[in-house]
Amino acid sequence: MNAAEKEQLFTIRWYVREKWGEESSKAEVLDLLGGLLEPGATPQDRPSVSKGGQKLLWCPFAERNFKKSRTAGSYAKGYPLGAIVHFTAGRRSGLEAGMNEQVENGYTYFVIDKDGNIGQNFSLDSWGSHAGQSTWPGLGDRVSDDLVGIEIQCAGMLEKSGSVYKTWYGETVPASDVRTVAAQTANQEAGAYQKYTAAQEDALIRLLPWLRENNPDVFSYDYVLGHDEVSPRRKNDPGGSLSMTMPALRKKLKGA
Ligand SMILES: [Zn+2]
Repeated sequence: MNAAEKEQLFTIRWYVREKWGEESSKAEVLDLLGGLLEPGATPQDRPSVSKGGQKLLWCPFAERNFKKSRTAGSYAKGYPLGAIVHFTAGRRSGLEAGMNEQVENGYTYFVIDKDGNIGQNFSLDSWGSHAGQSTWPGLGDRVSDDLVGIEIQCAGMLEKSGSVYKTWYGETVPASDVRTVAAQTANQEAGAYQKYTAAQEDALIRLLPWLRENNPDVFSYDYVLGHDEVSPRRKNDPGGSLSMTMPALRKKLKGA
């Protein structure tokens, strides 16, 4: 038995011991067992955990073999009403590092790495902190308990240093990866940003429609918001890292 298989067995034991009887943990245990019994099969090929009209709580195209995040409670409707788009503004890259950072800091969110891989380490009926002080009409304060977080690995806002742009930790960003916003445009604060990669934007525009199609009665594109929309002035993500404003993203999603 290799280390990953052992880790899966420990996770199964944890679910059986701590969460026995909960519908979502039953689905998770079945899925982990599927991974051990048919290791070659992708999650999509395995028997679906959504039998009986149940909504999937794990995105079938997300990687999930990570330490689980510490969630804080269940969504009122058992599923997020929408999502918040973030950038990590961090220097860690890759799903493993991104997930570890999240667990260390006690947050809960999807991670999208530079190559467009998506990581999930929490069940979609459970919320955890990711947006901090925030507010939005219809959602009240602290939107983390209504909306799922999507963190995209990106340095975020850049500082001009002579003729080049640098990350806050001093790394020079190639000009082709920089997007400047001349003046505040919708949610986008004026300034220079490291762009999300094309693979990251593709992954985002794959994940969001899946989240909606999986539970269209609860998840709404009207609640796909930028952190800079729900925490204006305090936060500037996604700002100009995303190739369009958040209202434009919502419009695109609705048209897709
Ligand atoms: Zn954020």
